[in-house]
Amino acid sequence: MIPFVYESLPSRVIFGRGTVGQVGVEIERLGAKRVIILTTAEQSAEAERISRQVSGVHGATFNGAVMHTPLEVTNRALQIVQQRKIDGILAIGGGSTIGLSKAIALRTDLPQLVIPTTYAGSEMTPILGQTENGIKTTQRTAKVLPETVIYDVDLTLSLPAKMSVVSAINAMAHAAEALYATNTNPVLSMMAEAGIAALYRGLPIITKSPENIEARSHTLYGAWLCAVCLGTSNMALHHKLCHVLGGSFNLPHAETHAIILPHAIAYNSPVTRDAIAALKRALGGEGVAGRIFDLTQSANAPTALRDLGMPENGIDRAAEIALASPYANPRPIEPALLRRLIVNAWSGVRPDHSSYVD
Ligand code: NAD
Repeated sequence: MIPFVYESLPSRVIFGRGTVGQVGVEIERLGAKRVIILTTAEQSAEAERISRQVSGVHGATFNGAVMHTPLEVTNRALQIVQQRKIDGILAIGGGSTIGLSKAIALRTDLPQLVIPTTYAGSEMTPILGQTENGIKTTQRTAKVLPETVIYDVDLTLSLPAKMSVVSAINAMAHAAEALYATNTNPVLSMMAEAGIAALYRGLPIITKSPENIEARSHTLYGAWLCAVCLGTSNMALHHKLCHVLGGSFNLPHAETHAIILPHAIAYNSPVTRDAIAALKRALGGEGVAGRIFDLTQSANAPTALRDLGMPENGIDRAAEIALASPYANPRPIEPALLRRLIVNAWSGVRPDHSSYVD
């Protein structure tokens, strides 16, 4: 018997095609009478469409969400919330938009209805990362967990294939680390394995046919399962490295996850037998780190940090910062091997189970 603690977070999830049509009913269910619609400048047409759909309760639109939730953007949106006497949030977009929604909820306790359009997974977590004066800090608090999430497969069709793959590998990372998290448990492991398998089933098809509904549906379903995993599991080496690289070198979020994940899995593989077995089942065979690397490569997405603009002289600084305050990790962090990992990820080496064994 393996003793464990299982925590389930309260949120209502609607999943399907055309589910965005239920947004009015769901806002009513939350009791909101005057909502603010949040999105990015790039998705303002989506916000416009949805504002027509909820015209009776539309209080304002703010389409200024950007990556890493900068405080000044949150303050601008908060001003509108106060001026217009907003009593609910309707966020449509990826992790950046959802981050803004959470930042407002943290400060106002307003209910959130979130419609994710990428696979990043923020919608199912009580985690909020915010940036002030260029420094990103992350906190976990139940106050930011969205009350209602509408997954609509149709809204993911416009996400380009390359972005879809890196975003889904971001999701895969949540599940992979849940498999070997210090607080893993059988229920999380089950969701993690099913989530990764669903992503791996959908992604190769999306790479060739981005409008394939079946593949989009598997991928969004997998992303949801992986997001649930991140919601209650502790993060380890992979997430630590991505936070360091994103924060210190301003590297793009999803692409960085896609590059680091195969290396983090390979690094931990000597001590994570059960997790590797689950990954083999989910990914259809041996060489799991290489399979994830190949997935990224086949989508023509970057496989080397240098291609994201990280300078070579940043390698030592990244290793130093990651070592200064590491997250709990199944395998102790050995400085020389960590450096090798960052060098390999920087230059785009395809990792395997022997890459980080002396
Ligand atoms: P993003 O939200 O920044 O989106 C990237 C771009 O794609 C944006 O311009 C967006 O408008 C556009 N886009 C989104 N969906 C689209 C669609 N369906 N079609 C066309 N364009 C679309 O990217 P992301 O990777 O989803 O989010 C990254 C952010 O989320 C980071 O700040 C990261 O820290 C955060 N994040 C937080 C958590 C958490 O639990 N707190 C989890 C994952 C990610």
